[in-house]
Amino acid sequence: QKWVYGFGAGQNDGRAEMRNLLGGKGANLAEMASIGLPVPPGFTITTEVCTYYYQHEKQYPPELQAQMDEALARIEQAVGLRFGDESKPLLVSVRSGARVSMPGMMDTVLNLGLNDRTVEGLAAASGDPRFAWDSYRRFIQMYGSVVLGVDHHRFEEIIEEAKITRGVSEDTALTADDWRQVVAEYKAMVEEVLKQPFPQDPQQQLQGAIGAVFGSWMNQRANTYRRLHDIPADWGTAVNVQAMVFGNMGEDCATGVCFTRDPSTGEDIFYGEYLINAQGEDVVAGIRTPQPMSEARAKPGERSMEAAMPAAYAELVDVRSKLEKHYADMQDIEFTVQQNKLYMLQTRNGKRTAAASLKIAVDMAREGLIDQTEAVRRVAPQSLDQLLHPTLDPKAPRKVLTKGLPASPGAACGVVVFSADEAETRAAKGESVILVRIETSPEDIHGMHAAKGILTTRGGMTSHAAVVARGMGRPCVAGAGGIVVDYHSQQLSAGGQVVQGGETITLDGATGEVFLGAVAMVEPKLSGDFATLMGWADSVRRLKIRANAETPLDADTARKFGAEGIGLCRTEHMFFDPERIGAVRQMIMSESEGGRRDALAKLLPFQRKDFIELFRIMAGLPVTIRLLDPPLHEFLPHREEELAEVADTLGADLATMKRRAADLSEANPMLGHRGCRLGVTYPEIYEMQARAIFEAAIETAKETGKAPVPEIMIPLVAMKKELELTRAQVDKVAKEVFAEAGMTIEYLVGTMIELPRACLTADSIAEAADFFSFGTNDLTQTTFGLSRDDAGKFLPYYVDKGILPKDPFVSLDPDGVGALVRIAKDKGRGVKPDLKLGICGEHGGDPASIAFCESVGLDYVSCSPYRVPVARLAAAQAAL
Ligand code: ADP
Ligand code: MG
Ligand code: MG
Repeated sequence: QKWVYGFGAGQNDGRAEMRNLLGGKGANLAEMASIGLPVPPGFTITTEVCTYYYQHEKQYPPELQAQMDEALARIEQAVGLRFGDESKPLLVSVRSGARVSMPGMMDTVLNLGLNDRTVEGLAAASGDPRFAWDSYRRFIQMYGSVVLGVDHHRFEEIIEEAKITRGVSEDTALTADDWRQVVAEYKAMVEEVLKQPFPQDPQQQLQGAIGAVFGSWMNQRANTYRRLHDIPADWGTAVNVQAMVFGNMGEDCATGVCFTRDPSTGEDIFYGEYLINAQGEDVVAGIRTPQPMSEARAKPGERSMEAAMPAAYAELVDVRSKLEKHYADMQDIEFTVQQNKLYMLQTRNGKRTAAASLKIAVDMAREGLIDQTEAVRRVAPQSLDQLLHPTLDPKAPRKVLTKGLPASPGAACGVVVFSADEAETRAAKGESVILVRIETSPEDIHGMHAAKGILTTRGGMTSHAAVVARGMGRPCVAGAGGIVVDYHSQQLSAGGQVVQGGETITLDGATGEVFLGAVAMVEPKLSGDFATLMGWADSVRRLKIRANAETPLDADTARKFGAEGIGLCRTEHMFFDPERIGAVRQMIMSESEGGRRDALAKLLPFQRKDFIELFRIMAGLPVTIRLLDPPLHEFLPHREEELAEVADTLGADLATMKRRAADLSEANPMLGHRGCRLGVTYPEIYEMQARAIFEAAIETAKETGKAPVPEIMIPLVAMKKELELTRAQVDKVAKEVFAEAGMTIEYLVGTMIELPRACLTADSIAEAADFFSFGTNDLTQTTFGLSRDDAGKFLPYYVDKGILPKDPFVSLDPDGVGALVRIAKDKGRGVKPDLKLGICGEHGGDPASIAFCESVGLDYVSCSPYRVPVARLAAAQAAL
């Protein structure tokens, strides 16, 4: 079996599509080499070796060593150096690379192959002893901490000492002899810690590093990351061994990390950072300040790569367009320049903000790199959420605390917390938190996720915090060097201002500003690219998208976001208004039909006005109105004074009121006297609501010349008879109102399907219904026999342990609830082939649930107004 795949120097065994076998890094190194880009030669040990290793008590396949020897010999031949040779030593990097990039994995080890003798060879061959000793100390430091597990602070302390002794502040000011001295101290320290000398045999070093990569696949951090991101443990990681190129050989050398477009805005500009005379991760480590790539982005005092190394930069510009053409996507690349010669060390599809993702998709479609459907496919529906959320109100008063780098756009406001754990616990209690760290690391991911925004005092635009925040869509200000964070006393200070943990601050991730206190925010503008992409999505989707809305504000927002109607107007929300609640309570508390009718008469004008407003805003689009659904006791006052007030208006005494309130309380209200059961027992309630709807429709028709088509929805129907009875009430009122007005309008009466019995008898129910709307919240509760209000205690455990793949209240359970939906659809359409079908409920805004609705062939989904764009895009993707 082939366990080792070569790349570079004219032999490319792999391709980009082989990421499962070669890992993302290895597959793309082979791909870049095969399209003629300058990639230092190397080889990839496959992910199957990792799997084998764990299935065979950490033994390697027997053929591996021979294949590796052969691959190494090929590299030696290609570059004219030999591994372990004392005069012309080949040095390699050992790099991990899983299918998807994983922060928990082993860090790369550079300059492997150096020892006390090869370092002299390198010094002689390069004519640059400083470079050789700098490389050797880097190697001992990386290998020592990453492979041998020596605390990296121990190494840093030795360098700090050396700098103090020499009276210099920058690493670059240390000489060859200084580094030689540092190496000696490193080795002594390692030997003291490990009780054995630092390994000198290059073969042993190579074995050690490869073993460490495979070992890291099962470490705590990697396991946690996999669990959080649903990555199976049996994917394994690959290992890449690659000839070194050196960015630390002098002023004509550099190393950098960049994106082929701006990952924050999507702008078509080379974006990133580089450092002259540096190696590996110096750029992101924050030891020296990295410089910008393009002259257009250089600020005063900065030296862009374009200006400093024009030849290598020109080559890179050429590589950039080749890569974008080849991958047809924005790339995140790593490169090194050795003596003005460019080498490519990594490429992958770049992480980007939602705004950038949208702009890049639209731009690339216009540039002809991809087509419109591909552009629609490219943007994650969930990510649109970020674009639809508020930014700082430019007119709002504010007090600037400090400024950092605009690392991930969007505004966020919350209380300051200093640890990821605290961010998580406070967020779980519903608090908005801003996670403040000196810098972040993979251990902080859970806290970053829980936070509304992230603030770091160290690190650049490609620091961990920045990259992860952009990926998650969290606003982030990075590298705010003006802030001093004191974890111990739980406070931060900047320019004489002190902010304690728990106090509120506001971040603007688009400008990098940090403000004291809360700053007012404004609604987002739905820009040109957004509209363009939505238009492309609309042209391919089949499902209609409606919104759940009952207030004029919600209805307005829904229209602005492109809703094609209201799929659920919950009329009870209209009852809580302080002007009306008195009448509602009076209605509930009266013991006679007459008393109820008196109270309902007071409510009628209010309801009518509500509906007129909705009909006006929706201008002829369908509006589904659900008649009263919750159990009546939900409307009762909690305080005795309020109960006394109700007693007053009814002319009854408080004791009677208390008795009546006690009568109304139920053991299990979710399954109690609610939904159409109210309509059946108190027909006057639905009659009033129907009258309000019809009168409003007629008034709107007269006023605008456009008649709305109300869709009246009866909740919680389990039996055909219930629907027949309530429907008859509605039809009777319609007739009366039409007669009074001297005109008729079109309307539908349908039902919510939210009980298993309704699904199973949907054929009979359909005979009395003009439409079905699946109320998937209640249908999920009743199918699982699971109360949504109590599930919080155990559902997370179920999801954590994999008993349930996802929270079924967030993402529709396709096997159980979904099966009932299919049954109801088949039975319903069996009776009425053009029965209108939709869903309302939280699932209407969830992309996976929308894909399910598309597969069942529903007509529409209805979701909250802010989710409408998400649903439009998800519905388009589901149709592709
Ligand atoms: P990560 O997955 O953390 O980005 P990489 O394996 O990409 O780790 O290595 C990090 C950095 O190390 C690279 O960006 C590059 O600068 C440097 N590096 C890796 N391999 C080589 C090499 N063969 N020659 C020079 N630099 C290298
Ligand atoms: Mg790294
Ligand atoms: Mg990398």
